[in-house]
Amino acid sequence: MKVIIASNNEGKIREFKAMLTPLGYEPISMKEAGISAEIAEDGETFSENAHIKAKAIYDMVKMPVIADDSGLCIEFLGGAPGVYSARYAGEHATNEERIAKVLDEMHGVDKPLRAAKFVCALYFIKDDEHEICVTGECEGFIGEEPIGANGFGYDPIFMIDDDTSMAMLSEQEKNYISHRAKALRKLAEELSR
Ligand code: IMP
Repeated sequence: MKVIIASNNEGKIREFKAMLTPLGYEPISMKEAGISAEIAEDGETFSENAHIKAKAIYDMVKMPVIADDSGLCIEFLGGAPGVYSARYAGEHATNEERIAKVLDEMHGVDKPLRAAKFVCALYFIKDDEHEICVTGECEGFIGEEPIGANGFGYDPIFMIDDDTSMAMLSEQEKNYISHRAKALRKLAEELSR
C-alpha cells in the first residue's frame, strides 16, 4: 500500500523507507507524490502538529498519509527546544547554529542536569474512518560538544552513553533505538491488530 510521508526532510524519509518497506508499505515522499505544501506547524504538542500535517495532506490527496512531528526536549531548559526544535535559532538558521545555541544554554550545566530526550509523534490517516496516533521517546543527555558525522539535526550533541552520540551510530543502529523507530514499532503493532 502506498503511503505518503508528509515530510521533506531527506534524513527522516530515509528512516521511514527503511522501517516501513519491510512491513509491506510503499512509502513515498511528498516530492514523489507531486505535492508541495508549506503547512504551518502551529500546534502546542508534537501530536497536535503531526495531526495538522497529516490532515492537511490527506485532505489534498485522499490517500494514506503518515506525518510525524519530532524534536528534542531538554529537562534543564523546561522541555525546550521541544516543538520549536526546527526553528530554535531562527527560521533560517543552520543545524550548526541550533546546536551552538543549545550548547551555549547548557554551558556549565553538570551532567546529571543534562538529561534530554528525543520525542516523536506519528499520525497515520488511512482513510476517512481510520486514524492512529502513537508516540516514541529516546532518552539520553546533551554532550559538551558535537561529535559524529551521521544522522541529522541535533544528533551530534545527543549522547546515548558517555562515549556515543546519536551521530556516531550507523543508520541501521539509529533506526533500532530512535524515537521514530519506537513510534513506528507501536504504529506497526496497531496496524497488525
Ligand atoms: P520536524 O519534526 O520536521 O518539525 O523537525 C523537528 C526538528 O527536531 C528537526 O529539524 C531536528 O532539528 C530535530 N530532530 C527531530 N528528530 C531528530 C533526530 O532523529 N535527530 C536529530 N534531530 C532531530
